[in-house]
Amino acid sequence: MHSGKTLLRIEHLSRRFGGLRAVENVSLEVKQGDRHAIIGPNGAGKSTLFNLITGQLKPNSGKVVFDGRDITGKPPHVIARTGIGRAFQITTIFPKLTVRKNLQYAMLAHRGYTVRPFGIADRMFSAEAQDLAEAVGLGAWADLPAGQLSHGDQRAIEIAISLALGSKLVLLDEPTAGMSAYETDKAMELVRQLATERHLTLLFCEHDMSVVFSTARTVTVMHQGRVLTAGTPEQIRRNPDVQKVYLGELEEEELGA
Ligand code: ADP
Ligand code: MG
Repeated sequence: MHSGKTLLRIEHLSRRFGGLRAVENVSLEVKQGDRHAIIGPNGAGKSTLFNLITGQLKPNSGKVVFDGRDITGKPPHVIARTGIGRAFQITTIFPKLTVRKNLQYAMLAHRGYTVRPFGIADRMFSAEAQDLAEAVGLGAWADLPAGQLSHGDQRAIEIAISLALGSKLVLLDEPTAGMSAYETDKAMELVRQLATERHLTLLFCEHDMSVVFSTARTVTVMHQGRVLTAGTPEQIRRNPDVQKVYLGELEEEELGA
């Protein structure tokens, strides 16, 4: 359970792209130890919100306070160093390198070392990488080229990397995108396990409702850049406005098809 302490506080955050209000006056709090999901139809502003938190984008107005520190508009590397990590939707695995090397290089990069194979850095974090491979259930495959693993296992490595780098808050943008139902279950089980073991705080956005309801303890719903409502998964599931938003999306998709 979460501690009640606020780890991330977003105040009246807005970001426009030309005339489009991608994120509009968003306020929310993420409690330490919580697993907080941001949900909403495509285009709701979820990824933009994440990019504002991690510094990939700068807001037009509003504030982002992390662990008591104002990080609004700071560059991504500064924000990463305050303890916010993220996993990307794209694959960042080096397919020809072993699973262990991938984990090792991620650890090096996270601590600000330049990754130069066969350099001195090559010997650093080698044991930690093996530990991490075991922690995420890939110990037996640590010496295999990462590219030989299934797509789902490669995504699991990425997620594991982001969870294991020692960030206080981990952002996952649609972590199970492109995974089969089986891979999704396995990956989210791993996320829950690591989050519990390492006392992580998670903020994730997700399209797949079964992932949201199996993993989140708090849910914030976004629609057209704004916060529609927030609550427990049970409250969100029963909220008729939320159902309408998703129904609206279904109709749009049907019309667009
Ligand atoms: P979500 O992740 O919820 O699907 P996004 O944050 O990606 O939504 O997008 C919110 C809105 O902002 C969408 O209408 C999208 O087209 C627009 N948008 C996102 N990024 C950009 C950008 N870099 N330039 C222009 N428009 C953008
Ligand atoms: Mg998105």
